[in-house]
This record gives sequence, structure tokens and C-alpha cells, in this order.
Amino acid sequence: MTKLTVGFIGLGAMGDPMARRVAQAGFDLVVMDADLDKAREIAAATSGRVANTGKALAEASDVIVTMLPSSAVVRAVLEGETGVAAGLKPGTVLLEMSSGVPDETRRIAEELADKGIHLVDAPVSGGVSRATTGELAIMAGGSDEGFALGEAVLAAMGSSIIRTGPVGSAHAMKALNNLVSAGGFLIGIEALLIGSRFGLDPELMVDVLNVSTGMNNSTQKKFKQFVLSRSFNAGFGLDLMVKDLGIAMGVAEATGTTAPFASLCRDMWRDAQQALGTGLDHTDVARFSELLAGSELHPGKK
Ligand code: NAD
Repeated sequence: MTKLTVGFIGLGAMGDPMARRVAQAGFDLVVMDADLDKAREIAAATSGRVANTGKALAEASDVIVTMLPSSAVVRAVLEGETGVAAGLKPGTVLLEMSSGVPDETRRIAEELADKGIHLVDAPVSGGVSRATTGELAIMAGGSDEGFALGEAVLAAMGSSIIRTGPVGSAHAMKALNNLVSAGGFLIGIEALLIGSRFGLDPELMVDVLNVSTGMNNSTQKKFKQFVLSRSFNAGFGLDLMVKDLGIAMGVAEATGTTAPFASLCRDMWRDAQQALGTGLDHTDVARFSELLAGSELHPGKK
């Protein structure tokens, strides 16, 4: 059986380890990134090739993966004379693994369906560490046919693949997951700030939360590792989180759902981005809570 060729676009914090997993699973790889050095590095590490244009990448690929910052960037790589859409063959599946906007994903899927192309939105959760081990949680929206064509490639990157419904549904689910994650992070940090001013050691508080009902992903995997250590380098950008919260609130608005807690959460992350600046890690948001509280969190400090 001939090996399937996967065209992988977007080799950043997540795309880099994900593309390596795809190559390790035995697929041929053609890669592309706005950062040409990055594309060359991944091609060299995976015995793959760099495509000069999106069109050339699409012509060489059976399955295409996009792992890009936003739906707007996905559209940008698809469009134009040398864009991906110009080289797509009927029967190809596009696995849109970025965290995108559901309505925009649906529109792109409709446009591609006219050319016989399947789009499956397949955003992920688990961060850089689980991307590296191939243990991402993958949400997948789209037709049975599209999913069947892309399933083996998805399985190279994730240990849990959950079908969410029609195209766009996985992007809605992903934004709502990040809403829950963002809320859990902020409420946990505020609890640590209140507790430390009361006289509790924040590190001890994290230990208590982690064996109690206040435990969440941030208490388990972020507070000691990236906040109390003051490293703030979890590998997921603050700008990306703010984008995801905007998507979640867009879904709330489109569905007429009153969600004041979610809205406040989005506003606080956006305010943090405005106050701290762009290009930071999402765990830097703790520094915004510290500014508001007028104290810093350090292990052992009461
Ligand atoms: P990133 O910013 O680290 O990487 C994005 C990559 O896309 C970069 O290498 C960049 O050069 C490339 N790129 C940008 N514009 C391009 C273009 N026009 N053509 C080709 N390449 C282009 O982002 P990331 O952290 O890897 O996240 C990617 C997606 O995955 C985002 O949608 C994000 O919300 C989502 N996500 C990230 C994480 C995480 O922990 N970092 C976890 C889950 C989901």
C-alpha cells in the first residue's frame, strides 16, 4: 500500500510536535509555515519536504492539516492563485485543527464541498506536553466520510478522539472548553491571592486544592509549574486564549444565551491582555490578578 502524504501547515508551539508525531506514525510529510526556517527544521527532522506554496502542498497531499493561529489565517492560506484551495484534489480531507470560529469553519467547509473536498474541524486540547507524546484530546466535527478519511492521521496525534457532530461543532466545543479552563485559572489565582493575604502559603493551598473539590487543570498543571515558579512559559499564548474566549462569547450571542459569568471571564482576560501587552503566555494572566490585588504569589510566602 502506498503511504499517504500529509500536508502540514502551521508548525508553531503545537504544530511542531504534532507534525513529528504524524511522521513517526509512518506518513510522508510535506510542510509549510510562514517561518521558513521552522519549516526546514521540521522537514529535516521528519524526512519530509518543504512546499513553496500552499498550492504545491495541496497538490502533493492526500490529507491536509492546518494548525494556525485563527480562522482568518486559515482562510488566508487557502485563498489566492498559489493558495491551498487552488491545488486541492477532489476526495482530499482538510483537518482544520486550529481553534477556529464555528461559523467561519462552516462557510469554508461549504466552499470546499463544492470542489469535492471534505473539511473536518478537529481542534485539540492538552497543550504542548500532550502534543509531544501524541496524547491530545481531539474533538472532531464533520461528515462520516470526511472523518473516515482523516481518522488515521488524527490517531497519530491524539489518544482520545470524540466526534462532536456536524462541521463547526468541534470548534464550538473547543472554545467552550477553553472558557471553562480560563475561568478555572482565574478563580484559582484569586483564591491563592486571598489566601496568601490571609496568611496561607500558596504552595500549600495548591496541595490542598489538588486533593479537594477545588481541584482543576490549572491547580494541577499550571499554578506551581508556571505561576509560583514565576516561569510563565506554559506554551499557550495569552492572545490565543483571548481569541478563544471571544469565540465562546460569539457562540453565546449567536445562540441567545445569557452568560454573565462567562462574559466577565472574557472581559478580564481581555483586560489583562490590554494591561500586560501582547505576545505573552496565558499563565501571565496571573500577573494581572496580582496587580489588581496588590500582592505577588511566591511559594512559601504568606
Ligand atoms: P503558534 O503561534 O505557536 O504557531 C502558529 C504557527 O503558524 C507559527 O509557526 C506561525 O509561523 C504559523 N503561521 C502563522 N501565519 C501563517 C501563514 N499565513 N502561513 C503559514 N504559517 C503561518 O500557535 P500554537 O500555540 O501552535 O497554536 C496553534 C493553534 O492551536 C491556535 O489556533 C491555538 O489556539 C490552538 N491551540 C494551542 C494550544 C497550545 O497549548 N499552544 C493548545 C490547543 C490549541
